[in-house]
Amino acid sequence: MKTVYTGCDLIDVENGCAVVGNVDIYVADGRIAKIAPHGETEEGYRKEDMTGLYAAPGLVNAHAHLFGTGRPSKALSGGSAQRLLIKLVSTRLGKSVLAKLVESSAYNELLSGVTALRAVGDLKYSDVALKKRIEQGKSKVRGLKILVSGPAITAPGGHGDGTFADSADTPEGLKALVDDRADNGVDLIKVCVTGGVTDSKKRGEPGELRMTFEQVKAVCDRAHERGLRVAAHAESAPGAELSARAGVDTIEHGGRLSEEAFRMLKERGGAVVATYSPAIPCAKLPAEITRLSETAAYNSEVAAENMTAACLQAFEGGVEVGMGTDASCPFSTQYGMWREVEWFAFMTGEGAARAFVTATAGNARVLGIFDETGSLTAGKRADIIFTSANPAENAAALCELKAVVAGGRLIRNPRPKRISALDAVLDKLSEEIKNELCHR
Ligand SMILES: [Zn+2]
Repeated sequence: MKTVYTGCDLIDVENGCAVVGNVDIYVADGRIAKIAPHGETEEGYRKEDMTGLYAAPGLVNAHAHLFGTGRPSKALSGGSAQRLLIKLVSTRLGKSVLAKLVESSAYNELLSGVTALRAVGDLKYSDVALKKRIEQGKSKVRGLKILVSGPAITAPGGHGDGTFADSADTPEGLKALVDDRADNGVDLIKVCVTGGVTDSKKRGEPGELRMTFEQVKAVCDRAHERGLRVAAHAESAPGAELSARAGVDTIEHGGRLSEEAFRMLKERGGAVVATYSPAIPCAKLPAEITRLSETAAYNSEVAAENMTAACLQAFEGGVEVGMGTDASCPFSTQYGMWREVEWFAFMTGEGAARAFVTATAGNARVLGIFDETGSLTAGKRADIIFTSANPAENAAALCELKAVVAGGRLIRNPRPKRISALDAVLDKLSEEIKNELCHR
């Protein structure tokens, strides 16, 4: 199948988001064959008129989970609801419900312009199974490029233990968990080094350490032996520090590192990944809505500040920076990548263009797939989004896509399934943050 998308204004994310006006993008066998000034269409190509639209690289969501919708729920926060869920997904019926849920999450991501996604911790290898179905052409999510970790790894009582993570205590036990994932065909290993915001006990200390240096090192050493990179959930500065020293490749959520740990991460070609989408609502929405304790809300604010510190340190010191929605967490939907881009721009103060570059080329580099996607370049996958306004000037332009092309598959006027009550709350919050920043 050969298609040419004609008459669009291309956003060059490798060149400061310069707009290259009125070009035709030729796509053959799922890849960009060439990009040429608008003119007569070459023979053998089906023409898709995109006159007056911007063409930008598809978004890369560098941190997502596929098991949830983003609607705040008690199901994964411990207690009886969680026990019920885990019991359910172990049954045959539960497995098929989970498979459908994961697929509809990924489909929503695709319809929101995400053409590549890294799943960093899902239940029962449901992410790996989805990836296989996509590769076999058996999924409605056809076209999406997906990297999967399978269930995360932690120490007993660590973040996600018993739900989206499995645990072991000894280095041997942890290495066996890595082997199990490698044998199941994962693309990376996810390790939960610290706790989360919701299970933090001390005010001002989100992400208490849940693993020792030796435990994290055991995971990293085995993962690297098996040719896999390691993404670490580290929701505090001490957690980030331990992760960088123990050998992880990407620090998720993060915090400011010491000079030495930063150098170690840089030498490894590591990266930091921000996830503002759950952190900001949990910090800023009233407790009636979030149902979080005062300590958890305060700690969300601290976690968001830690993320910003990590990003700014990385930008300044030449370490790759990425971003992801942490979809499935409370308030982070499977179609909210545009909001992550907007909030990243606000929070880091780096502006809309840099946020957009981070969400495309930056994330592709963080995931090690920049030779495949992340910019509109001949030879890469045809991962393209079409918008009527320039998304590098305003992320809200990503909210109303005119078309998505994922690995060459065209979806015109994609409409993700939205949760309107949640959107209303988040839109209002965005306005408030914007006003607050204007008056600073
Ligand atoms: Zn996460």
